[in-house]
Amino acid sequence: MWEVSCRDLGLTECDFVASEPSMRKLENKMLEHARDEHPELVAGITEDQHEAMMKQIAEAAHETAVH
Ligand SMILES: [Zn+2]
Repeated sequence: MWEVSCRDLGLTECDFVASEPSMRKLENKMLEHARDEHPELVAGITEDQHEAMMKQIAEAAHETAVH
């Protein structure tokens, strides 16, 4: 599983942790959460900002030891 938390992205006041079997699902989950809980972060962002956010998620994500 792939895991990333809002804390990993610098949102220290949020306890949300996304855990998904693939990076793509993880990114979607995180975006969904951001739209619901952190609308100020995603409202009206440009394509470049969106890409930067995706990159940040990909860099912060880590694979959990499940085999
Ligand atoms: Zn959050």
